[in-house]
This record gives sequence, C-alpha cells and structure tokens, in this order.
Amino acid sequence: MTGELSGFDAVAEARSARNVLDIHWSRICSRLQAEVGEVEYRTWLKQISIGPVDGDEITLNLPTRFLRDWVRTQYGDRLSALWNAELPAIRRVELQVGRPEGAADGAAPAPADPPVAATPATAAIVGDERVPENRNDLAAPLDPRFTFDTFVVGKPNEFAYACARRVAERPSSPGFNPLFLYGGVGLGKTHLMHAIGSELVRGGAVSVAYMSAEKFMYRFIAAIRSQSTMEFKEQLRSVDVLMIDDLQFLIGKDNTQEEFFHTFNALVDAGRQIVVSADKSPSDLSGLEDRLRTRLGCGMVADIHATTFELRISILESKAAASGVAVPAKVLEFLAHKITSNVRELEGALNRLIAHANLFGRPVTLEATQDVLHDILKAHDRRVTIEEIQRKVSEHWNIRLTDMSSARRARAVARPRQVAMYLAKQLTSRSLPEIGRKFGNRDHTTVMHAVARVTELMERDTAFAEDVELLRRMLES
Ligand code: ADP
Ligand code: MG
Repeated sequence: MTGELSGFDAVAEARSARNVLDIHWSRICSRLQAEVGEVEYRTWLKQISIGPVDGDEITLNLPTRFLRDWVRTQYGDRLSALWNAELPAIRRVELQVGRPEGAADGAAPAPADPPVAATPATAAIVGDERVPENRNDLAAPLDPRFTFDTFVVGKPNEFAYACARRVAERPSSPGFNPLFLYGGVGLGKTHLMHAIGSELVRGGAVSVAYMSAEKFMYRFIAAIRSQSTMEFKEQLRSVDVLMIDDLQFLIGKDNTQEEFFHTFNALVDAGRQIVVSADKSPSDLSGLEDRLRTRLGCGMVADIHATTFELRISILESKAAASGVAVPAKVLEFLAHKITSNVRELEGALNRLIAHANLFGRPVTLEATQDVLHDILKAHDRRVTIEEIQRKVSEHWNIRLTDMSSARRARAVARPRQVAMYLAKQLTSRSLPEIGRKFGNRDHTTVMHAVARVTELMERDTAFAEDVELLRRMLES
C-alpha cells in the first residue's frame, strides 16, 4: 500500500522536477535565441531535448552525431554557463546522441514550436553527414584584422606571403590557380586567405567567397535537405574567388569532396581563382580522392614553416607596438624563447600580458610576465633537466661532467659551471637552492652569484654571449 503510494509520489515528483527543468530550459532557449539569432537557433539549438540530471550534470540530447558534435564545439561552453546560471547545482552539460525523454508517450512536451517548424526534424543524410536545415548566407565574413599589413613576413612564411600577394594582385593567373597554402596550426594560413580576400574586395568589382571546408560541407548538405542544391551550386559558381579553409576536414566526407571537386573544376574552367588551405601538402592529404589531390597540386603549392626565433620576435614587436603598451625587449625575447609552438599561442600570451597591463595600469616586467603567464609557460616548459644542461655545457667546454659538482675552482671549470647554473635558472623551474644542491651541494647564494656573473659577462663579451645562446638553443630544441 505504502509502496504503491510512494511509487506514485515518485512519479509525480519526477514529473514536477521535469516541469521545473522544462521551465528553466525554455528560459535558456529564449536567451540563446536572442544571442545567436533565429537562423542559428533553429538550425542547431532547437534540436536539443533535455535528458536526465545526474549529480551536477545534465544530459542534453541531439538527434544525430553530427549535430551533437557541432553543438558541442560551437555552443558547449555557453550551454554549460547558461545552465549553471539558471541552476547553480548544474555545473556540466553532457551532450549525447539520443531521442527526447518521454518522446514516445508524449509526457514531456518540447518547448513550443512556431507553427512553420512543426514538420518532423528529419535530417538530410549524405553518407554519414547529416544536417537539419538550410542557411542561405554563402560566405563567412572576412576578419578585418587579417590583412597583408598586419602579417609579419620572415623566412618561414615569405614564400607563402609572396604567393598570396601575387594572387591578390592578379587573380586567376595560370601558375597560381589554385593557390594551395599549407602548414601546421596557428601559422597564418587563415590570416593570408583573409588578406587576399580583403585586398580583392577593396579593389572592388570582385566577389569573394571564403568559408571553412566544414562550412562548405554544412551548406552543401543543408542545400540537399532543402532541395536547393541547384541554387547552392549556382551561388558558388558565380563567385570570382572561392577560398576554402582547412580542407583536411573533408577527409572521409566523400560526397562533399565530390561536390567540391565539381565546383572546383567549374570555377577553374571559367577562369575563376581558387585558394585552398590545409594542414598538409596535397600529396600528403591521404584520404582525399586522387583526382582532387592531383587538381589541387596543379597550381601553386606554398608551405608555411614553423616559426623561427627571429620571426617570433618580429611578430611580437609588431603586435606590441600596435597595442600601445610598452613591452620591454627582454620580455619579448623571453616569450619568443618560451612559446615556440605557433603564432596563435604567442599572440595569446602577449594579449594576456597587455590586457593585464591595461587592467592594472602596471608596467610590463619580466617578473610580472612570469607571474601572469605561469600556466601557459608551464605548459610550454620544455622540461630540460639540470643533468642535460650539465652534460651539454661540459661537452661544449670539454671538461669532465664530474667537475660540475666538484670543488675545483680553476677558471676553466668554474666558468662553465656558472654557465650551467645560469642556464638551469633560465630553462628550468627549479629554485636557487634546488639548483645549488645539484651542483655539489652549493649554497643558493653561489647560484645567484653565478647568474649575475654570467649575465654581466654576456653583456660585455659578445663571443661569450653567443656561446651561451647557442647552448641555450641546443638545449631548447
Ligand atoms: P592557421 O590558419 O594557419 O591555423 P591563423 O591564420 O589563424 O593560423 O593564425 C593564428 C593567429 O596568428 C592569427 O591571429 C594570426 O593573425 C596570427 N598570425 C599568424 N601568422 C602571423 C604573421 N606572420 N604575422 C602576424 N600575425 C600572424
Ligand atoms: Mg586557420
């Protein structure tokens, strides 16, 4: 009897909890709708249905894997934040592929739909690529910050830069069509593409369509879904310049590749310019159809290499100058030494420094930099060990490794030992006492003295400074 009753209560309770969630959810939906606009909201977010809450996590369901992945990357953080703002007990959002809870018995009505959207949310399916609705704006806008003027040229990117400039000046020249730019992440591919686009648009009378390969796919599938592929094709084929960014995204997406191939041919045959970027060269993009790869390699292929120390310094100088905040050369050098992965990370670090300086009105110093960026720096720590430093330094000056810890004070061993201490301070996160211990249990004041002495010598003696720099680079790479 009581069992029955509590069972009934539990159901009622679950129902009302669900109603409460529904109320929160519809509030979140209204905010999202206002934030992202009607088209975006209807295309992606309206497909979400809420699932159960487990601890501090709420599950949100989406009908397909594609939708789930898209919503996760584009809106995941925002959804978590909005849920947390509505219900502080919810800290995380789990996105899953699934049907709305209670969809079968109709117990949990989804937030009210406008009448036109009452059609079932069947997704167009092309291979494994699914998208629910159409969107008609063709190209992504060009970022006004990414121009040729703001692009810093150095050895690693000068060829790609020259090719991009050339295409911007004289699009559709035979040797430069298509222009294929490739290189690792954050090295300036997108920047150069936008620069080409902006330059051409500024010159007037040229229509430029720039989009990521992902967007290309999305638009294509959406067009199929809304039976407007003809329109889509015509739109694409009417542009003077088509730029597709991050082509590697099309690997394994055969139908979209096929469509891109046809678009590509139609445009090139009509004397229009194509610019494509990818993370690898055409020949290394395995997973792209052979005929497409061949076509992609037919024009100009330009790679952007990893940055050099010199380029990193130039980029930092240029960005610091543009910010209007005085950043000492020492700090720029420090950043260029520490953050070698790519320009995006470098820029991110500098931006944080600048924001900090503006916020607190304090000058940028090396100490402040280490403090403000300690998490970034830690992540980029090359983890050079003191042992490695001792080994390299002894080899360099041809002394015995044991002399790093010995008590010998002859200059021929004392000086290299000081350099090793100096490098240990510069390249590791060890404290002075820790470093001292590794050098035959020396006192931290000895290490401090060594650091000061080497710094001073480097200022006076350029040959010595070069030696130390060389060692540093060898250890860092
Ligand atoms: P990719 O598309 O190759 O991943 P991006 O073009 O998005 O890289 O570049 C990442 C960031 O670094 C952007 O903010 C871009 O402006 C900046 N950047 C990259 N290379 C340069 C450069 N040579 N000069 C100035 N900024 C650069
Ligand atoms: Mg890019």
